[in-house]
Amino acid sequence: MNVLEHREQKRERWGAVRCAVRTGPGAKNSGASPADDAPCPQLWQPCGGRGAGNFDPLFEALLRQTREAVFLLDERGRLIEANRAGQQAFGGRLPEPGSDWAKLWPAATRDLAGDAVRRARSGVTARLSIHQPGAGGTGRWWDVLVAPVRAERQFGTMILATCRDTTVHRKSADDLLRAAERDPLTLLPNRLALQRRLEASIVRSMEGATPVGLILLDLDHFNQVNEALGTAAGDHLLRSVSARLKDMLKPSDCLARIGGDTFAIIFEGLKGIAELSIASECMLERVRLPTRHAGRLINVGASVGGSLYPRDGASGHDLLKSAECALQAVKAEGRGASRMFHQHMRVEAQRKASQRNLARVALLERSIVPVYQPKMDLRSGQIVGFEALLRWSHPRRGLQGPETLAEGFKEYQLASSLGRMMQQAVIADLQRWRKAGIDCRHISINAAPAEFMGDDFAERLLEALDLGCIPTPLIQVEITEQALFEEGAGHVARAVKALSQRGIRICLDDFGTGYSSLTHLRDLPADVLKIDRSFVARLDEGDESAAIVQALIDLAAKLGLNLVAEGIETLAQLRWLRERGCPTGQGFLISKPLLGDDVCHLLRKGSLLELSR
Ligand code: C2E
Ligand code: CA
Ligand code: CA
Repeated sequence: MNVLEHREQKRERWGAVRCAVRTGPGAKNSGASPADDAPCPQLWQPCGGRGAGNFDPLFEALLRQTREAVFLLDERGRLIEANRAGQQAFGGRLPEPGSDWAKLWPAATRDLAGDAVRRARSGVTARLSIHQPGAGGTGRWWDVLVAPVRAERQFGTMILATCRDTTVHRKSADDLLRAAERDPLTLLPNRLALQRRLEASIVRSMEGATPVGLILLDLDHFNQVNEALGTAAGDHLLRSVSARLKDMLKPSDCLARIGGDTFAIIFEGLKGIAELSIASECMLERVRLPTRHAGRLINVGASVGGSLYPRDGASGHDLLKSAECALQAVKAEGRGASRMFHQHMRVEAQRKASQRNLARVALLERSIVPVYQPKMDLRSGQIVGFEALLRWSHPRRGLQGPETLAEGFKEYQLASSLGRMMQQAVIADLQRWRKAGIDCRHISINAAPAEFMGDDFAERLLEALDLGCIPTPLIQVEITEQALFEEGAGHVARAVKALSQRGIRICLDDFGTGYSSLTHLRDLPADVLKIDRSFVARLDEGDESAAIVQALIDLAAKLGLNLVAEGIETLAQLRWLRERGCPTGQGFLISKPLLGDDVCHLLRKGSLLELSR
């Protein structure tokens, strides 16, 4: 037989099969065209009777080769024939012909399989997933299609069940899901998994009517461990904290790592908030114990915020928000403690969020304007310079003070954007005044601690001044003592040095309100001290404030520093300061902060002499 003859013979045989057997939806409708059958395998041609060995040898060979488990059933779902893969699906043993195919499957899926057979009998192809459990997790998953088969008239409707083994796909999907929900460092559930478990705990809590507790534990200054001892030490610390916390939990509790250095714990079956609060304290204690890594001791503190379902939130999402709010409150109060959520914390969080929002709006609308408060030589009454203070214009309420954006000054991105916009505006005013031949002596600008976090404060300011052709001796930078304590104090020290080297004078603001003012005087190249206005305000009362101010006047003189007394509101305060030798003063008595144009008028006038007597 030549190739063509062979091909022709094959085509005839296939054609005969396609006429004899139809599968899939509409199989009962014998008038459908062969093209309707396209997606369904049509491999079987019962020839000369039903039962094993009664099929065309070609189809038997094809069936043997197919990897899918294929079963031919009669219209009541009883087994007629199965291929080799079908036999293997049931442990290599050929199920008894005539046995109920649906009952060959595990009890849990028998009903589904029986239902699929009934649907196939009524002409509809059914699809289902069947799980076949096996010992030691060796179970298999099957994707099963149960389709009606319309054979030659004398055989009536038969049913074809095709089962594809999807165990490998399922397993990798499960592995992916597990990986997506696990923190690779500590192998704890991650934030995604925590959210799912929290919802599940809440459902169980609804059934058992017991509260669910959630605590968030955040390591304090974890970055410093990473920076000082390296990331290996940081990783070790996180693993060790995770192990300690795990040690303290009951099997029904769930520990997760939901962020860099933040852990979360769900407690079920609690009696109330007091129990949750005690649990938080115990965890704090435990975390505070030193850890050893590479021969060194690592000490770390933590802050904890907690919330209770249903008291603090009706859903997992709300409960998490409340615990986050409590954690933020602890951090704002100075860290190292634990707090349970209270409604006032939410009000406070909203207030802060609204301030950050206002700061964003002010930046976006470029509505920031500097005002300038004069500094006066207390002896001569001459203006010696100005402090630039931020204002922003509200469309209805007019000029607003910096306290309305206070939270904006605490976040690096916002604080540095606010700072830069202020600097630009001050530089523009200075250019205008210089062009008009007005000498404003110097302008001091305030820098919030957060502005130093990017470690480029000095470079950016110097670049802006150079671009604006503003001589650096015209500028002072006021930093608060607080900036010298916060994270990134090293950046502040570097910036101060760089600015000093270029001739910008450094002013320690609110001096005396920090913890170790004298240390800073020794370590920083400061040029000016500003006595905080709380001391000046109490001068009239004759208490220790007067002694402190006197001591500061003497100290500044001995160290050769300039001294500015802030917040002078009364003549008595002014006279007291002048008589005791304080060189410079600033306050509402001398002048309120002025708009740029008013600065011009004042400078043309030259002095505030009436106050110097
Ligand atoms: P500060 O740096 O201590 O600024 C002095 C504040 O005291 C100013 O308030 C000023 O208007 C106010 N003041 C001046 N004299 C008197 C007085 O005699 N009595 C009273 N009661 N207050 C007086 P302001 O402008 O509301 O600024 C408040 C704070 O906001 C500033 O305190 C400063 O910490 C911050 N701030 C203002 N502008 C900026 C800025 O451009 N950048 C940064 N980072 N902070 C700024
Ligand atoms: Ca200031
Ligand atoms: Ca101040």
